[in-house]
Amino acid sequence: MYTEGLRDSPDLPDDFEFKLVNPATLKELNDYAADLVRRVDDGTKFYMKRLIVSGVDQGLSSPKIAQMIRDGATVDEVLRSAEFTDEVIGTVKAELESLSEYRSNSIVNTEINRAESRGRLGQWRAMGLTKKGWAHTGPDTPCKVCTGNIGLGLVDIDYEFEDVFGGTQTPPGHPGVCHCHLEFDEAELIGKADEVEVWDGQ
Ligand SMILES: [Zn+2]
Repeated sequence: MYTEGLRDSPDLPDDFEFKLVNPATLKELNDYAADLVRRVDDGTKFYMKRLIVSGVDQGLSSPKIAQMIRDGATVDEVLRSAEFTDEVIGTVKAELESLSEYRSNSIVNTEINRAESRGRLGQWRAMGLTKKGWAHTGPDTPCKVCTGNIGLGLVDIDYEFEDVFGGTQTPPGHPGVCHCHLEFDEAELIGKADEVEVWDGQ
């Protein structure tokens, strides 16, 4: 907004604290991470969620978090403190041992992308923005599903995009690695510059 001449200064508030992790992302992860992972025990979902949330909070990379999930070094500690039984803990360990590198990376990437995208969408709604678009970054070519969503251009903020899970408000569109994210309508933001409250990390 400053570069567009819509704010007098590029300065952030005096008490601004730069946080790498958006609290909206963490909230989404806390609320939903691993809920949609299929064919694993609830104890395994619980463990994955705990590691994804703490990993993101600490700024760890996705492959690192995926590796920590596969290693399962803290299974006993994490599950015992949440009062899971020995039987469940045994099941979780067996499931983590059989988890491939590909699948664990897919789960972590999918959950983080979904949480970031949903967190962002919630902030745009709160700001009063009414449009969103599906965008792809990275050297890879987006898949057919994502290409279809990208081709729609800007759509209503409540629009249900196509994905392989049965419809979605935000990326990702598929498991594995989806390098897609949401974008907003820059013209709309600039047009509403006087009314919108921009999130400043508080
Ligand atoms: Zn994609």
